[in-house]
Amino acid sequence: MPLVLLAQVSSSNSRVAIAWDFLGPCGVRILSMEAESATRVPRVRDVNRPPAPKWQIGEVVDVIVETPETNTLRIQLAEPTPYSAGQYFNIRIPVEGRPRPIQRAYSVGSSPTDGLDAIEVGIRETEGGLVSPVLVRQTSVGSQLEVRGPYGEFTWTEAIPGPVLLIGAGSGVVPLKSIIRYASHKGLSVPMHLLFSSKSAEFAIYLEELAKLEAEEDWLTVDHTFTRDSGDTRAKYHRRIDKEMISEVYRISEPAIAFICGPPEMVEEAESTLVGLGMDPALVKTEKYD
Ligand SMILES: Cc1cc2nc3c(=O)[nH]c(=O)nc-3n(C[C@H](O)[C@H](O)[C@H](O)COP(=O)(O)OP(=O)(O)OC[C@H]3O[C@@H](n4cnc5c(N)ncnc54)[C@H](O)[C@@H]3O)c2cc1C
Repeated sequence: MPLVLLAQVSSSNSRVAIAWDFLGPCGVRILSMEAESATRVPRVRDVNRPPAPKWQIGEVVDVIVETPETNTLRIQLAEPTPYSAGQYFNIRIPVEGRPRPIQRAYSVGSSPTDGLDAIEVGIRETEGGLVSPVLVRQTSVGSQLEVRGPYGEFTWTEAIPGPVLLIGAGSGVVPLKSIIRYASHKGLSVPMHLLFSSKSAEFAIYLEELAKLEAEEDWLTVDHTFTRDSGDTRAKYHRRIDKEMISEVYRISEPAIAFICGPPEMVEEAESTLVGLGMDPALVKTEKYD
């Protein structure tokens, strides 16, 4: 009586049917062998997920000094790379004494509407850091950097209803400026209100660009708070971002969605304040610069 074995070869998804009978101590005799190739059903994840970003070489084509500790690097990409306003890229550089390059995340301050063949990152030097001092102090036009992205869910498009409240501290303004720039380039009129904390006007990243955008766009309000300059009238507030400040801005802007970016402590406090004021936690998006 022949025996039939049906086996599935998982890597190829093919099925093989083998029929054989026993020939006593001599072994077995194969009677038939049929292979059937099963149609591979692609998983939903394969179809919808964009390919994972790959490292590519970017060339620095412009360096803009924003503040004494922050530079914008305009990086020409080897491959035009689609991204959304608010996303970030990783940059890795060789560091002396380290066997492998060290990577850090940097938000994109430009907007996809600026073109997809280059990104602008705003990098603040962290004293004693491994990567940011090199990117701010030792990187110039012509420098080549390894970049990979985009990443992140901290994004906004016109498909998401406003008004939009944006809260940032220090370099946390970078992705928020990308969102504002995107809305401006697209000619949108969704109300946006930015609350932005810096040490002083001298350290406020994009100070002039934000002032220009606010003057041009009647849907945009920019409120500065300067923590170390109580006399500068360009700032509405002169202290760290706190509950009272957020509550006041919240009442004025009546946001449908909020984006908070910067040091983890500030982000967490602002988030819990907005939720305490009645915002749906799912509509309070955060990006922490750990
Ligand atoms: C999603 C995301 C987006 C970001 N976007 C931006 C952006 O747009 N712009 C920006 O400027 N930053 C951004 N950051 C922060 C950035 O990724 C880096 O964390 C930052 O630049 C510091 O990196 P570094 O290598 O210079 O410092 P690190 O080497 O990471 O050091 C950070 C600090 O820790 C101290 N330290 C390190 N090791 C030790 C140790 N062993 N003992 C004691 N102290 C130590 C250092 O002295 C330094 O003060 C982002 C972060 C995230 C997560």
